[in-house]
Amino acid sequence: MLTPVVDEDGAPFWEYAARGELRVQACAACGEPRFPPRPCCPHCRSFDSEWRRMSGRGRIWSYVVPHPPLLPDYAAQAPYNAVLVELADAPRIRLVGNVVAAPDAPLDSVDPARLRIGAGVRVAFTEIAGVIVPRWLLERG
Ligand SMILES: [Zn+2]
Repeated sequence: MLTPVVDEDGAPFWEYAARGELRVQACAACGEPRFPPRPCCPHCRSFDSEWRRMSGRGRIWSYVVPHPPLLPDYAAQAPYNAVLVELADAPRIRLVGNVVAAPDAPLDSVDPARLRIGAGVRVAFTEIAGVIVPRWLLERG
């Protein structure tokens, strides 16, 4: 499995994830959230930032069902989904992830036919190859 590459700017994201918190970097000067994490605010150019806790709720902004050729580990799990989730608390932030049936369920645990753009999701965390990563569960209804 591919695991996240943790750089200096993004390290807090993973540290909070390890505590079960979804946080997004935000500018401490103008308040604008940004993703991926980086040193400077693209809106006001401030270098001051904070990590804002999100509710963990969002909606599917878009998704794909990757088809072969895939890396061998992923081919074995196809068909699965890769989603872009628009965060309820920061609608301009969209995180890439997977919708799964339970936090530690396999990548192919949700039939792609169940996915809809706009569907509500909530974050869950699980460990993959030693890293705690966010995943997404469909809201009921
Ligand atoms: Zn700013």
